[in-house]
Parts: sequence; structure tokens; C-alpha cells
Amino acid sequence: MSDCLFCRMVAGEIPADVVHETDRVFAFRDINPQAPTHVLVIPKEHHRNIGALGAADPGLLAEIVSAAHQVATQEGLVDGDTTEPGYRLVTNTGPEAGQSVDHVHLHVLGGRRMAWPPG
Ligand code: 5GP
Ligand code: ZN
Repeated sequence: MSDCLFCRMVAGEIPADVVHETDRVFAFRDINPQAPTHVLVIPKEHHRNIGALGAADPGLLAEIVSAAHQVATQEGLVDGDTTEPGYRLVTNTGPEAGQSVDHVHLHVLGGRRMAWPPG
């Protein structure tokens, strides 16, 4: 989609601080980080939210979740098979949840203690 910010980042038309990339997955640092580590993991193909992605291509949904864990490991948020210190995965769907970019993305957040429940 030519008018989609994240599609344009995948295409290299807008710069991105890329931390992980495969033929189908793209991960880059959030421009407005909410934690010491804040990376966005997306499928290169455009899907508007996680439900649409899961319906269209469950394998690709699994790939972005797996990539998110790989990014968390690479960023030092989980050490090998342990879950320490830990990270949070967030995906917002729709305006009330705060979705501002309509290209599905997982937020990988870590490096500080996080409150639960979120606000
Ligand atoms: P949402 O609000 O849709 O869950 O998350 C969208 C995220 O995209 C926000 O955390 C926002 O900071 C990030 N973002 C918006 N524009 C850009 C950009 O141009 N570059 C990067 N790296 N992140 C962006
Ligand atoms: Zn897109």
C-alpha cells in the first residue's frame, strides 16, 4: 500500500533503524520509545491488524511472534531459555486501543519494570 507508513519503511522510502529482517518480517526501533527497548515487528506484507493477519496467513502471524522473541533475546530482554528479565508484547487494534498505524505491528517493550494492568 503506497500510502501506508510501514509499507513505505519496508520499501526503503522512509528510513528505519532496522534490528531484524527476513524475507517476510521487518523489525525496527519505535521513533517514540515507551521503554529503554521499544521495537516494532511487522510482516512486510500489508495487513491492517492482527485479526486480519491471523485470518489471512496464520503462518505469518507465527513468524512475527517468533521474530519478536528473537528480537527480545538479541536485545538482552530474555537470556537463552530463561524468561528473565522479561519483555512485553503489545498489539493495538482499533482507535480505542490506540492503534495509530493501520499495518499490524507487535510492540516489543522491555528494559524497565512494567505496570499491570496497563492504563
Ligand atoms: P500504535 O499506536 O499504532 O500501536 O503504534 C504505532 C507506533 O508507530 C507508535 O509507537 C509510534 O511511535 C510509531 N511510529 C509512528 N511513526 C513512526 C515512524 O515514522 N518511524 C518509527 N520508527 N516509528 C513510528
Ligand atoms: Zn502497510
